[in-house]
Amino acid sequence: MSFATTHGVALDGALGHLIDIQTDVSQGTPGMVVVGRADAAIREGLDRVRMAVTNSEFQWPSSRRTTFLLSPADLPKSGPHFDLSMAIGVLLATEQLKKVDRALLERSAFIGELTLAGGLRPAPGVLPMALAAAQRGIRRIFVPEPQCEEAQLVPDLEVIGVRSLAQVAAVVSGADELPLAPPVAELSGAQLVQWRGADRLDEVDLADLAGMADEKYAVEVAAAGGHAILLTGPKGCGKTSLAERVPTLLPDLALEEALELTALQSLAGAVAPGAGLARRPPFAAPHHDASKVSVIGGGSGRVRPGELSLAHCGVLFLDEFPLFRADLIEALRQPLESSEITIARREESVTLPARALVVLASNPCPCGNWTAQASTNRCRCLDRVRRVYEARMSGPIVDRIDIVRHVRAMSPADVDPFAPAEDSAAVRERVAAARARQAARFDGCGWRLNAHVPGPRLKHDWPLEPGAARLIDAAAGAGRLSARGVVRVQRLAWTVADLRAVDAGRAVAVDRPPGVEAVEVALRLRSGTPLDSATVRRRPVAGEVAS
Ligand SMILES: [Zn+2]
Repeated sequence: MSFATTHGVALDGALGHLIDIQTDVSQGTPGMVVVGRADAAIREGLDRVRMAVTNSEFQWPSSRRTTFLLSPADLPKSGPHFDLSMAIGVLLATEQLKKVDRALLERSAFIGELTLAGGLRPAPGVLPMALAAAQRGIRRIFVPEPQCEEAQLVPDLEVIGVRSLAQVAAVVSGADELPLAPPVAELSGAQLVQWRGADRLDEVDLADLAGMADEKYAVEVAAAGGHAILLTGPKGCGKTSLAERVPTLLPDLALEEALELTALQSLAGAVAPGAGLARRPPFAAPHHDASKVSVIGGGSGRVRPGELSLAHCGVLFLDEFPLFRADLIEALRQPLESSEITIARREESVTLPARALVVLASNPCPCGNWTAQASTNRCRCLDRVRRVYEARMSGPIVDRIDIVRHVRAMSPADVDPFAPAEDSAAVRERVAAARARQAARFDGCGWRLNAHVPGPRLKHDWPLEPGAARLIDAAAGAGRLSARGVVRVQRLAWTVADLRAVDAGRAVAVDRPPGVEAVEVALRLRSGTPLDSATVRRRPVAGEVAS
């Protein structure tokens, strides 16, 4: 036999695709060639594969022509992790492996970059690769030893952690003992990505914050529907404390969300050993000095997900937002619009999911003390500096924010000592119920929350009550809502109605379209206008959904 087929996995963003690697060793001009949209890393790796084979005490067919055909041909393939499947392909095609179980081989996949000595290097993205392999009928996967645990998160898959090409060859040949090999190094990215997806439930709680009824209602709506929110206000008014508590309002991740998030962590090389599947929504809060690449994703060489993708299904908090780099602010437009981020590369572009709930906070000026009232204004910023700062908070980005709240500095008189603050667990329960309503409504649509419904679908499939729609038209006609704002108010109105239905004790019931009152609340949330006390005290309003 001078021909063999092995399996590897190509990554497209955080999605894996099973790839057949057909290896042919035959007469012809001696040399090596790889066919099938392989990138430079794969082509340049051919010599590495050859040396790994000879240094593992196997023969390389130097006098013959070795062709690797990677299929499906139309799919771009990149990364050195195809080395292992190509090397095994050569050993099989040249019949250097004995006692091979062909049926098992057909259902095996090989992942790993080779060193010249025949050792293995880890590969980023092992979890999405293993997931894709299992979905396509693969039952046994070989991965570099340190990444064994990560691949084991995939059910019904035998994971074999290996250190070298020789060890893989021994397993494939049915050997009882594995040849010794030095341990595989950890993935370098693991140190680079500071993963802060910690569960904060034990550390902070909404009940820590007294008063703030209006703002607490706003973050509950944001959490329930996945709406981006902007908190503005003077220094020390509690914006940051409020933002840090948003993750505590989110329910545990569904299995599907957990797999998506952990796949992104895997791609970033940020799956902590022993951490298993992510269960709680992540919280990322990069500093305003952060680079565009670290927040949005990208980088030279392979694409690394940024904090935005690592906060998928959780919260991305950008404190002092106007101080972030202009190119980063600009780049946030796409994820705020489409819940994903496309990173353009030289040869291709990679799209990663980025459904983080975005929370922005901003002071009124760089020093944080500016107020419109001259008598209390203690701002020391230059007018010019303050205007540049303000300009960043207007226009395209803010138009893409669903909820705006101007947080006032609290005084003791604002707090009612006889009204104990509700804790995060109680709010989280309502958020979960509101999300369950949305999940039922959007079953099979490809999104789970109101904030992610495409505008045209919303208008067509889930219209508001006629009176409520007229209210939005009037606001748009009067120039108080942009075209983008119209869609965002419609989405918000659905979330307000979902929460009211939950209050009224109808967890998952027939959806009645939001009426005038829900739209009034949505318009206030969007425009930064304070809410009336009936709304924030969480009493269902008679006549609307409570009927
Ligand atoms: Zn100032």
